[in-house]
Amino acid sequence: MIYLDNASTTSVYPEVAEIMQNYYINDFFNASATYKPAMRVHSAIDEARSVIASLLGANKNEIYFTSCATESNNWVIKNGFKNKNGNIVVSAGEHACVYESAMYMQSKGFDVRFAKLMPSGFVDIDDLMSKTDKNTCLVSVMHASNETGVINDIKTISNGVKKINPRIIFHSDGVQAFLKTPVNVASMNIDAYSISGHKFHAPKGVGALYLNPKIHLSPLISGGGQENAMRSGTENVAGIVAMASAAKIYTRTYDKQKVEQNYAFLIENLKKIDGCEIIGDTERNTKLILAASFAGCKAEILQTMLADENIYIGRGSACSSHHAGNRVLAEMGLKQNVIDGTLRFSLSPETTQEEIKQATIALAEKINSLRGNKIG
Ligand code: PLP
Repeated sequence: MIYLDNASTTSVYPEVAEIMQNYYINDFFNASATYKPAMRVHSAIDEARSVIASLLGANKNEIYFTSCATESNNWVIKNGFKNKNGNIVVSAGEHACVYESAMYMQSKGFDVRFAKLMPSGFVDIDDLMSKTDKNTCLVSVMHASNETGVINDIKTISNGVKKINPRIIFHSDGVQAFLKTPVNVASMNIDAYSISGHKFHAPKGVGALYLNPKIHLSPLISGGGQENAMRSGTENVAGIVAMASAAKIYTRTYDKQKVEQNYAFLIENLKKIDGCEIIGDTERNTKLILAASFAGCKAEILQTMLADENIYIGRGSACSSHHAGNRVLAEMGLKQNVIDGTLRFSLSPETTQEEIKQATIALAEKINSLRGNKIG
């Protein structure tokens, strides 16, 4: 199998799966219980919180574990904004969980403004600033795009909007950026930042939210008081410990030079295919996601043909792949035929050049056969 859909999800590191097993079978205790083995479990959660906090440049009491980034993002967008006379500014390139939360707020009568994207895939900072004013309560701009991998200039944006209104809550969806590009919530002036374990070889079903202690969101789930009474419910111990363990392994094994070389190798191979158009900026990029369109081809068909050969490549956000079209690529100004022909290659730092080579050779063959061998 060749798997180039890591932005959609990743396999769990085998060492991490092993660690998890312990929390299902041996250390299965409820972290809230007061006997010794349970306290050990509580300490493991505490330690995981410290690991995630330090990777974000945050303090441990500022990290809330959730079930996924969709949950973290919904929490901020739907709770960070109570003032009916205020407004919210969201980048038009956001993942569905931010975008749909913003649309939900709009349906409740709130003034929601969408900042345009540039053809390069970055949010248009001038447009975003022009839509931000003294009544803006919340601004949300993703750190790295799940469609193109481009990295928004978060520090410039957060500082800029806070100059307009210092009380703005600045939220960034860090799902595709965390561990893949540096982040420091303090120096980048970020108030809320979401991450998701299954994008870095931890399991599905665990995420986290960093929250600046100066921000007062209402509790997401009321109950037994876990997560500092902000998100009650018995903790997903195995998932939480796994997420921190995977983050440590990812950081330790991430080889920037290899990631950059693989990305350049992928681009070089794709450019050999006639009618290939690379989408968005490939420089200020995590270099783990590449969107490319193939003239005259339908990505959906290419994807199926490749899957038949055990080669898996994405077509933009997997969560939205059952909806028609691609909102984000359309926002970047791409024509419908280009969008229809766009595949999203997403690598893991573990991906090899051999896998990239085999996948691109197979892709070129499929494109050739689709075009009736006329081009390519
Ligand atoms: N935000 C971005 C940028 C994503 O890529 C994804 C997942 O595809 C999510 C949010 C949702 O994350 P989760 O699957 O943890 O809900």
